[in-house]
Amino acid sequence: MATNSSSGSLVRHKTRQVRVGRINIGSNAPVVVQSMTNTDTVDVLGTAMQVAELARAGSELVRITVNNEAAAKAVPHIRDRLLALNVDVPLVGDFHYNGHKLLAEHPACAEALAKLRINPGNVGAGAKRDPQFAAIIDIACRHDKPVRIGVNWGSLDPSVLARVMDQNAKLAQPRDANAVMREALVVSALESAAKAEEYGLGGDRIILSAKVSSVQDLIAVYRDLAARCDYPLHLGLTEAGMGSKGIVASTAALAVLLQEGIGDTIRISLTPEPNGSRTQEVVVAQEILQTMGLRAFTPMVIACPGCGRTTSTFFQELASGIQSYVRDQMPVWREQYDGVENMTVAVMGCVVNGPGESKHANIGISLPGTGETPAAPVFVDGEKTVTLRGDNIGTEFKAIVDDYVATRYVKKAG
Ligand code: SF4
Repeated sequence: MATNSSSGSLVRHKTRQVRVGRINIGSNAPVVVQSMTNTDTVDVLGTAMQVAELARAGSELVRITVNNEAAAKAVPHIRDRLLALNVDVPLVGDFHYNGHKLLAEHPACAEALAKLRINPGNVGAGAKRDPQFAAIIDIACRHDKPVRIGVNWGSLDPSVLARVMDQNAKLAQPRDANAVMREALVVSALESAAKAEEYGLGGDRIILSAKVSSVQDLIAVYRDLAARCDYPLHLGLTEAGMGSKGIVASTAALAVLLQEGIGDTIRISLTPEPNGSRTQEVVVAQEILQTMGLRAFTPMVIACPGCGRTTSTFFQELASGIQSYVRDQMPVWREQYDGVENMTVAVMGCVVNGPGESKHANIGISLPGTGETPAAPVFVDGEKTVTLRGDNIGTEFKAIVDDYVATRYVKKAG
């Protein structure tokens, strides 16, 4: 298992590197953010629009389900629509039960995808399992596509589980049911990968995942997988749930693993609120990586929680407005400036920690708390530069942020 160095910098679990479209996964490549659509893949326009939305939010790979003939036929058209929108995010096809058939009958679908995801628990039952798995691997080889072998405890291969249970029963000290399930997940992933290599898929074309919905089980499974193979690992807490529960559970599990250097690509399996944006899972994935110091995607806004010293809502409104502003500006800034994603902006509620925290940020503003003089000192690179007053503090502070970005971050050549 990878460990942290005494200096606190992370040591990544050593893996091979897999190329997925234009994205590298594993080895020394940055941890990649993925997402998945929830549109009907047959709806070419709707799916292309959601893929584009996810890609623009920062998803570096987008997975779409390919569950029937119509969906397989739609995939190349989705790819074409995306290219017409100038979105060239790699698409991953998610196959269950009939992947061998769909891929064989729709070679244009296989060609349009950058990666195939298959679940060894449901490529086929009994005697059909191995030939159907072999057929998918053969197609991946012919189209030169990498494969994620993704096991899931909700669809664990029953023959593997039965075998691991039998072996466990013969032990002098049998392990508990949870440990047996975890071992079966790992065995299923590793044996499937070995079979895929036997069928001709290169070891540098395989990514593994083994998802469960319990935080402690997920950590245990991935620690074990990382110790037993050098394939890149895709992390995700399956069925994480809605809202804060889904975010907290995913973060709790992934942060432990990422801190140990385990995980080469991540997806946050959030259930969106009704009519909520699918892009929330991308934002959460990015924020996990950025707050851990592993990658930077967008300027971070540091804000105090507020307390009895902030009795008006102005402080929350300014913090929220700045947060939205920097995120909205980022697609433009990314094209024009280098390194702006590393910027930190502090929005603080009163004099207690306001000036101190603001001095640590690239730009900070310390708003007046209840009873303080109505003035908001602004700090740039640790120095107080101006004090804002009156009704336009928010607008003036945004202008200071814009000016800082334009002067501090070097424009990209060309
Ligand atoms: S900085 Fe001031 S307003 Fe913010 S939490 Fe601390 S004491 Fe309260």
